[in-house]
Amino acid sequence: MATNTLPKVLSIGGFDPSGGAGLQIDILTLLQIGVHPLTAVTAITIQNSFTVKEVYPVSTQTLAEQLEIVIDDYQVEAVKIGMLADRKIVEIVAGFLEKSKFKYVVVDPVIKATSGTCLLRSDALSLFKERVVPLSTILTPNLLEASELVGFSVKSIEDMEKAAQIIYRLGAAWVLVKGGHLSGCECTDILYGGNILSRFPGSRAEPKDVRGTGCILASALAGYLAQGKPVIESVELARGFTLGKIKTAQKIGRGRPQAV
Ligand code: PLP
Repeated sequence: MATNTLPKVLSIGGFDPSGGAGLQIDILTLLQIGVHPLTAVTAITIQNSFTVKEVYPVSTQTLAEQLEIVIDDYQVEAVKIGMLADRKIVEIVAGFLEKSKFKYVVVDPVIKATSGTCLLRSDALSLFKERVVPLSTILTPNLLEASELVGFSVKSIEDMEKAAQIIYRLGAAWVLVKGGHLSGCECTDILYGGNILSRFPGSRAEPKDVRGTGCILASALAGYLAQGKPVIESVELARGFTLGKIKTAQKIGRGRPQAV
C-alpha cells in the first residue's frame, strides 16, 4: 500500500453544518491546495447560508482528546486556528500550542460572524491576546477583528498599518490585516513582520458576500507554509487562491454564496 506523503495541516475550529465556513471549508481548501487536512472541533455551530443561529462549544475534554489523538499519530507541519468560542476552549488550545511547539501556527482571530453572531465570547478576548497571539506565526484579522484586538476603530490603510504593528508587539511573528471591509472599491491587505511592512493592493471582487473567506485565506496560508513556502510567497498565493474562490463561488443555499 502506498504511503501518503502530503504535508499535514491540523485545523482547529468550528463545525458548520452548511459547509460554507469553519472546518468544512478548511478541509475543502486544504485538499484543493494539496495538503492533508486533520481537524479538531471546538464548537458545533447551527448555521446556514443566512445566519449563525447558535454556538455550542464542545467540552474541554472532548477537544483535548481530539488534539491528543491526532498528535499521537500524525506529524503535523502546520496548525490553523479558527473559531475558539469561549475562554475554556482558548485555554485548551493555548496549552496544546505551548506544549507541542509547531513550526507554523496560522491564527484567524474569529470574533463575530458577518451575520453578527458572537463566535468568541468577549470574556475570552484577553486570554486569547495573552496566550494565543504570541504563539502565532501569522495572525490574519479583518478590520473588525483588528479593531477588537487593538481597542480602536481600524478603518483606513494607515489604521491597518498602526494596528498591525500593535498586534505584532503582542507577540505574533507576522500580522496580515485584511482590507476586504475597507470602504470604497480598494481592499488592500497589510503585512507586517517587524522589519517588513508591505501593502498588497487589490480591488473588490464579486460577489461581495461570499461566506467563510477568512477561513479560506487562513487555511490556504497554513497549506502553503506546510508545503515549505516562505511567508510572503504563502501570503501572495493564499490571497490569489481566496480571490479565485470568491469569483467561482456559487449559491448553494438560498442565502449568501459559498466557495466550491
Ligand atoms: N462559522 C464558523 C465556524 C467560522 O469559523 C466563521 C468564520 O471564521 C464563521 C462562521 C463566519 O463566517 P462569515 O464571516 O463568512 O459569516
